[in-house]
Amino acid sequence: MNSPSLAPITLTGHAQKEAWQNNVLPAVEQLGTEVWSIPIPFPGNPMRYTLSYLLLGDGDAVLIDPGWDSDAGLDHLTAGLRQAGLGLTDLTGVVVTHFHSDHLGMAARLRMASGAWVALGDREVRRFTDADDPDLVLRTHREELTLWGVPPNRLTEVSMDHRSLIHLQNLADPDLRFTDGALVPAKGLDLRVVNTPGHSPGHICLVDEPHGLIFSGDHVLPRISPHIALDLPWLANPLADYYESLKLIAFEDEMEVCPAHEYRFTGMQRRVAQLLEHNRQRSVEVLQVLEAHRPATVWDIAQHLTWSRGWKSLQAFSLRLAVSETASHVVYLRAQGHDIDVPVTDPDPVVR
Ligand SMILES: [Zn+2]
Repeated sequence: MNSPSLAPITLTGHAQKEAWQNNVLPAVEQLGTEVWSIPIPFPGNPMRYTLSYLLLGDGDAVLIDPGWDSDAGLDHLTAGLRQAGLGLTDLTGVVVTHFHSDHLGMAARLRMASGAWVALGDREVRRFTDADDPDLVLRTHREELTLWGVPPNRLTEVSMDHRSLIHLQNLADPDLRFTDGALVPAKGLDLRVVNTPGHSPGHICLVDEPHGLIFSGDHVLPRISPHIALDLPWLANPLADYYESLKLIAFEDEMEVCPAHEYRFTGMQRRVAQLLEHNRQRSVEVLQVLEAHRPATVWDIAQHLTWSRGWKSLQAFSLRLAVSETASHVVYLRAQGHDIDVPVTDPDPVVR
């Protein structure tokens, strides 16, 4: 849905794009003398891999987004570090842009192997801890989906399963929390934290001005528009947050954007303009569906929206994301003053 009238971004990760098109894992790349890009496989997911970045300081070695936890992932990471002349034990810090498994996944294992600290933004929310009763969490989750109109015969398919919940409960807790504007504590690095909520409540980007690099996590990706979920009950209006934080990260177009997926590019301001426009068009489409079909639930709205491979192609996890994204548009539009009589907020969430 990107408007053709908006200026395109400029590809810089040519080898990465080629690898993407050939459906293979991109190679490890050195970006300047002190920065490395190390792809880590993300099995069973259309994103295919997470781009992990290694930054070498003055005796410090910091990894951004270690990626999905698997033995194969650890092998890829170890091989990438070796190319940079390092072993796992040389890592001194792990910065994670947000609390999702394909970013934080391997952090616990790396901390154990190296003693490195693990850091997240100070606003990031851990959705589940091992203190939560999985049965209660899943029941509440299904109630949310029911409120959004997910039909009973699709509930099991759409909702999170027990296995993924346990996985989320076992993700590493951070040792450090970074505030907006903080400098990552590593000698010889000049890496500044920018709070960029939207994709998650405490997502951060990292700006390395000396190298002219922006590590954008999932906040800004070159090809897809990041998923902005209504993740009850913490996010009041994630789309409004996303719009605000897109503007915060619209640094000069000359800086190279190093995203956590897909490939590198320059043209942050151009990409921000595209993402704002994409989401604005989506909101307009939601309003048109409300007018034309008088839907009673978020699910009813979602099935009338345009999806890249069609509504019928959406299944399981991708269907949940679609419904949750639609819910965040409803919340946003309601806050803009539109009178939308579709339930989105559980009045009394059991699990917080
Ligand atoms: Zn991701």
